[in-house]
Amino acid sequence: MIPRRELFPNVIEMNYQARRRLGCCVYLVHDRGAWGLIDIGYEDTLDDIVDLIRKMDFRLADCRYLVATHADVDHIQGLKRAKEIMPQAKVVGHRQAARLLAEGERIMTYAEIAAQGISIDLPKVEFDGVIDEGDVLEIGGLKLDVWHTPGHAPAQLSFRMGELLFSGDNIYRDGAVGNIDAHHGSDLPAFIKSLERIRDSDVKWLLPSHGPVFRKDSVHIQKTIDRLTTYLHLADFGTCAIDWPLLEEWDAELVRDFDPAKA
Ligand SMILES: [Zn+2]
Repeated sequence: MIPRRELFPNVIEMNYQARRRLGCCVYLVHDRGAWGLIDIGYEDTLDDIVDLIRKMDFRLADCRYLVATHADVDHIQGLKRAKEIMPQAKVVGHRQAARLLAEGERIMTYAEIAAQGISIDLPKVEFDGVIDEGDVLEIGGLKLDVWHTPGHAPAQLSFRMGELLFSGDNIYRDGAVGNIDAHHGSDLPAFIKSLERIRDSDVKWLLPSHGPVFRKDSVHIQKTIDRLTTYLHLADFGTCAIDWPLLEEWDAELVRDFDPAKA
């Protein structure tokens, strides 16, 4: 038996619990014996995570939910094996994540990044249910409100529990955000809306999917919103931008005689 290192009442995070970096954040939410996990991480850390859970004296048979914040391989590769170990637990997530993982889709989940030689296993998994904006997950007496916060990925969900928001890949402590990538289904205007929603909410703490937990700070989130807003009009993220004003400037210049000395 090992002591439970709760970050907040009823919330344990497995990297903090292990006191070493295992991978993406894996949150264990528990109440009255019932518990659930938000994300599971890679398959090769699954045994360590299950071992920690057992040693904290949670019964595997009491796991209600295995939640996917979205379908990226680093968040969910271990899902299939976790479901085999805990068959009573319901695998839930957004319908787009359910589709990607039922199909074993490799591009949108980052299992395959051919240009970088990245090619890793993506075990297919069938979800037991899909969840979306407005749904509520109940664990013991706890209620987790499901927020659909697309931007990084179409399937990105966040979960509000009182003053806590399990905020997925929306924003990290350094103001960085989850990868913006057209092939991943990223959507910059949607991303900005999701961040504005988080900024304007009265949650006090953000529990992200990567890196440390941090206090919600509207000024900090606004800096990130401002940065993403500039991306809307820059070529940096290709087809994720909504326009490129430089092309209009160029149009105007093309109809005049070009004079390098005046450029
Ligand atoms: Zn991620």
